[in-house]
Amino acid sequence: MSYLATTDHEIADIIEKERQRQVTGLELIASENLVSRAVLEAMGSIMTNKYAEGYPGKRYYGGCEFHDMAENLARDRLKELFGAGHANVQPHSGTQANMAVYFGFMKLGETLMSMKLTQGGHLSHGSPVSFTGQFYRVVQYGVDPESETIDYGVVEEIARKEKPKILVCGASAYPRTIDFAAFQEIADGVDAYCMADIAHIAGLCATGVHPTSVGVTDFTTTTTHKTLRGPRGGAIMCDEDHGQAIDKAVFPGMQGGPLMHTITAKAVCFKEALRPSFADYSRQIVKNARAMAETLEEAGLRLVSGGTDNHLILLDLTSLSITGLEAETVLGKAHITVNKNTIPNENRSPFVTSGLRIGTPAVTSRGMKEAEMRQIGRWIAMILNDISNEALVRKVGAEVTAMASTYPLYPE
Ligand SMILES: *Cc1c(COP(=O)(O)O)cnc(C)c1O
Repeated sequence: MSYLATTDHEIADIIEKERQRQVTGLELIASENLVSRAVLEAMGSIMTNKYAEGYPGKRYYGGCEFHDMAENLARDRLKELFGAGHANVQPHSGTQANMAVYFGFMKLGETLMSMKLTQGGHLSHGSPVSFTGQFYRVVQYGVDPESETIDYGVVEEIARKEKPKILVCGASAYPRTIDFAAFQEIADGVDAYCMADIAHIAGLCATGVHPTSVGVTDFTTTTTHKTLRGPRGGAIMCDEDHGQAIDKAVFPGMQGGPLMHTITAKAVCFKEALRPSFADYSRQIVKNARAMAETLEEAGLRLVSGGTDNHLILLDLTSLSITGLEAETVLGKAHITVNKNTIPNENRSPFVTSGLRIGTPAVTSRGMKEAEMRQIGRWIAMILNDISNEALVRKVGAEVTAMASTYPLYPE
């Protein structure tokens, strides 16, 4: 038993219950993943016991020599991983990374152009309920209603008309390849900065499984905890010319002391991502998404945009006459964790939705391959086609747990 269990059994019990949930279920939330034991150990280390406001070599507190070494390693490894000129590893989250770029390069009331939340974008890209929608004038592009993919001609038209200060690309629920070079070209044409938010696909971009934005767009922001498989956090990459302004925007612009235990774990994650096995892992994520997509399609389900190029699938449930909320709930009962999601041309609220987002990063981290994806896809289709069949949900739930338990989170 852990030391924690001897001092705080309530919290230790909660952690144990959550461990059981993770072990016995299938995590198909596209933004989630499982970190390595090494990342876990670094995150839970004594590196948390320190204030290190500032940057390596320029701290506001004494005793930072080892924290400087850890942050320098994190920065250097991230630069190597993406071929970036400059890296800031301090943002506490993906939203904070975006905030720093906006804060550093856009004045209040200036125009931010981004993808609509309901068609794949993110809250931090200008939603009215986010500070981004209240501090800036927001104009948005969506996907083409027919192809359900980005129409770069339309993006260019909007940019010409609205003259944004920053053009944002990158998404949370877009199953197709994003042409970062096209976005930068559009931004250049209207004298805007281009920011690619690769939060979801960072691991794919780092390994060339998806074309990278680093070295292509002015700024790249990311989370470190999605396909990159690191600790929960954010990072920013840009060329050296913009580096100083980015660093100032992060600290002291919008954060105080960095989470040094997290930065230490980011360094571990970036080293893992530099290994050839991480490229194999990234390729497998996409192969797994394709296998799952084919199975779902064969079972008669409609995939938004007709398929996937990356780690996620967006299902349109309209023809089944069920909502995203119902689908999420019933699959949850069978220990398959997914999330409801709006789809292009959505007519339901974000709390109900007509779609379902399914992602393969976490199950791929557990070592599952195409055969397991086909099995999971068949289970999902069976349940969605018959959501009030409780016996079926129970039967599938037992099979899910049996399969999941043969793929331990930490086999070592
Ligand atoms: C997940 C995500 C973020 C935000 O990350 P947080 O760490 O939750 O703030 C930002 N942008 C995109 C596109 C995302 O998918």
